[in-house]
Amino acid sequence: MSDCIFCKIASGDIPGDIVYQDDRVIAVNDIDPKAPVHILIMPKAHIPSLNEIDNSNKDIMAHILTVAANLAKTKGVAEKGYRIVNNCGVQGGQSVNHIHFHLLGGRSLTWPPG
Ligand code: 5GP
Ligand code: ZN
Repeated sequence: MSDCIFCKIASGDIPGDIVYQDDRVIAVNDIDPKAPVHILIMPKAHIPSLNEIDNSNKDIMAHILTVAANLAKTKGVAEKGYRIVNNCGVQGGQSVNHIHFHLLGGRSLTWPPG
């Protein structure tokens, strides 16, 4: 999608601090980190939000979570714990309309979120 910032990072049109990528998924350090480890994991293909996930594209969700679990290990937060967050829609706090999952770790995280 031409005006999507995460599509542009996925295609290499604008730089991203890439920590992992394969044919379907890219993971980048968040530009405004909220924890010592704050990585965004997303499909390279443009999917606006979790609202657009159904049986036709559900496999990418398992792949993203597997990448997240592997990154948690390689970034050294798996043992102490971490959080995976998806903000969906306006009330969910989604600010970039290209589905992505936040991997947050490296400090104690409070609950509930704001
Ligand atoms: P959301 O609020 O949609 O759940 O999360 C969007 C995230 O994208 C925010 O944490 C924000 O800091 C991050 N972000 C916005 N623009 C960029 C960018 O150009 N590069 C990177 N790496 N992260 C971005
Ligand atoms: Zn996009």
